[in-house]
Amino acid sequence: MANNIKYFIGNWKMFGVPKSISILDKINKFIKSDKKFNKKYKIVVTPPHTLLQSYSKFFLKKIISIGAQNCYHKDNYGANTGAISPLMIKSVGAQYIIVGHSDNRSEGDTDAMLKSKVENSLNNKLKVVFCIGENKEHKLNNKTFEVLENQIKNVLEEKFNFNNIIIAYEPIWSIGTGQIPEADDLLKTTIFIKKILKNIFKKKYLPVVLYGGSVDGKNIKRFKKLNEIDGFLIGGASKSDKNFIDIIKNYYR
Ligand code: PEP
Repeated sequence: MANNIKYFIGNWKMFGVPKSISILDKINKFIKSDKKFNKKYKIVVTPPHTLLQSYSKFFLKKIISIGAQNCYHKDNYGANTGAISPLMIKSVGAQYIIVGHSDNRSEGDTDAMLKSKVENSLNNKLKVVFCIGENKEHKLNNKTFEVLENQIKNVLEEKFNFNNIIIAYEPIWSIGTGQIPEADDLLKTTIFIKKILKNIFKKKYLPVVLYGGSVDGKNIKRFKKLNEIDGFLIGGASKSDKNFIDIIKNYYR
């Protein structure tokens, strides 16, 4: 089963200065004018930490929601130079947070750290976008399902508030490469992920599972028929208002 609302979440990574807010302002204006479809989707953008406060304030009563890209694995305050906790992120107005992006996993984030990030973020009432995904070697060795199942089960627990968790399936071989999975494979994988989630959370709910990896204004048309996919995590293309708007337009038209 699929959800009615589709998410389009932009991950700016290490991009953006204060004046880049004009990109989001244009996207916000587009959504406002898109009377035919704008009730069908939710837009979230995750700028770097340096912009969270000013952007969250600017978009407080507007359509776009603002999120963070990562956090430290301990909460509150501490003697951790350069670290930013979920409490600090929430305090400046962010509503969402990405946890477990492959960029951060490759820089040393372990499952135990990710569990703690998810738990602390949920405790601070942030909505968590939890990223999972196999690398090329896993895929070639038919290990994709095993890897995804472990990534989910090692971090998510039944006690977590699943209403505030969104899963982003991002095959590592697809991120920034222009390669996207075959439609059939993607459908099977999405259904598999939802099955694992239902087994963990044992509730009657609809898990929200996004796809991420090289999504752009052209290939988005190929995802239209895959109704099981509840939206997209978009990297490179989210840094341009035109590219981001094209993705939304071409998904619905
Ligand atoms: C990402 O880094 O989360 C991502 C999906 O990047 P891209 O869209 O550029 O592949």
